Amino acid sequence: MSTNKEKEEFRLETRTWLQTNCPEGAKGPGQTAWGSSKIVLERDVALWLERMSERGWTVPTWPKEYGGADLENDLYPILIQELMAIGARTPLTGRGVNYIGPTILELGTDEQKEKWLPGISRGEGGWAMGYSEPGAGSDLASLSTRAEKAGDEYLINGRKTWTSDAMDCDYIFVLARTSDDKPKHQGISLVLVDMDQPGVEVHPIRLLSGASPFNETVFNNALADSADVIGGVDNGWSAGKRLLQFERSTHAGINTSGSQGGRNTRDDTKEIVLKYSPIESGRLADSATRARLLEFQMKKAAQSLTQKRTIEETRARAPGFTSSAVKLSNALIEQERDEMIVQVMGSLGIGWSGEPFSDQEIDATRTWLKQKSLTIAGGTKEVQLNIIAKRVLGLPD
Ligand SMILES: Cc1cc2nc3c(=O)[nH]c(=O)nc-3n(C[C@H](O)[C@H](O)[C@H](O)COP(=O)(O)OP(=O)(O)OC[C@H]3O[C@@H](n4cnc5c(N)ncnc54)[C@H](O)[C@@H]3O)c2cc1C
Repeated sequence: MSTNKEKEEFRLETRTWLQTNCPEGAKGPGQTAWGSSKIVLERDVALWLERMSERGWTVPTWPKEYGGADLENDLYPILIQELMAIGARTPLTGRGVNYIGPTILELGTDEQKEKWLPGISRGEGGWAMGYSEPGAGSDLASLSTRAEKAGDEYLINGRKTWTSDAMDCDYIFVLARTSDDKPKHQGISLVLVDMDQPGVEVHPIRLLSGASPFNETVFNNALADSADVIGGVDNGWSAGKRLLQFERSTHAGINTSGSQGGRNTRDDTKEIVLKYSPIESGRLADSATRARLLEFQMKKAAQSLTQKRTIEETRARAPGFTSSAVKLSNALIEQERDEMIVQVMGSLGIGWSGEPFSDQEIDATRTWLKQKSLTIAGGTKEVQLNIIAKRVLGLPD
């Protein structure tokens, strides 16, 4: 634990360094690096990534030998607050620094850490997540993608679905079946696969909006190095569940692996509600909207304190089952906010494009619809409630 004096010194030192080194083009909304070799970075974004990774602040809590800065968990929130104070975007995000990186750090061998972590910390390679299959979502252990040993390699065959960003990724971590003669949870392994090979095909899944962030990823005799099984062969259920905790903690804002702060730099909820609601005698005329806004603000403040407490109390880079609780409450608060915003906007809150809708109104509609996925991605609301009931509250099955 750091003393108050140490915290204050760290804050001042950090503030000065950030003021000098964060380029203007890496502040406010805009491009954020996530490692993909297929996306060209803007000059300032590339410079920001380079400076922050040299300082170990793309993965501040990782050991220095793997590209981090050995930062204590109680100093991490100070770095994030200072990033947010100047509106700096995170220098590097994505499944590399946030999901697979910390999993390798916790469960990988020394060779695996040396091979993968320095590159991940510098943003060399974008990572996709190969968990869900057409027949295995919430019931993930029913997956049927196979990894068969062939000499020093594994041959991967199967079909993954909903692989976000796969079209721009360089690597994918895959949950695959390595043994058939064991109970279904015990014959799975977590394998790292290079996507740039003939055996991996990515097919976009077109959405109603016309955009296509999702893909189906097909493995047809794709090769993986047998040294790239993380957490041990047939132990992928445990390793894969730990990775899910890193994913959920990222959604919840409590993963201290990357430097994810600086994302939501400003909460403009009150400002928007006031803009679209009638005001009488200096306050919102509608008592129901008043109560709703107040309740949202209290929940948001409580959530923020919970995030801070969880980070301080967790010795690892992400807590265990608590991740599910904080992820779920975060998602529900966000969705409540979205509902409130489109409601106060009235008919302007259902705009999709063009006149008479402003950019803010179009953004509200799209955010409202997009964030419905917050209670599906990373495990559905019902799955999180099951985990909280069984693992946090200790209720019987
Ligand atoms: C934005 C987004 C990004 C995603 N990105 C990825 C990705 O990159 N890689 C990847 O592998 N996957 C990804 N997914 C997939 C995601 O993990 C799955 O959608 C999720 O786990 C649910 O699985 P499913 O869609 O098959 O639904 P199902 O499991 O079929 O669930 C359908 C419904 O049944 C309910 N249900 C199921 N089982 C139970 C139960 N035991 N108790 C109570 N209710 C239950 C669910 O809660 C849900 O409401 C993404 C999803 C979204 C929305």
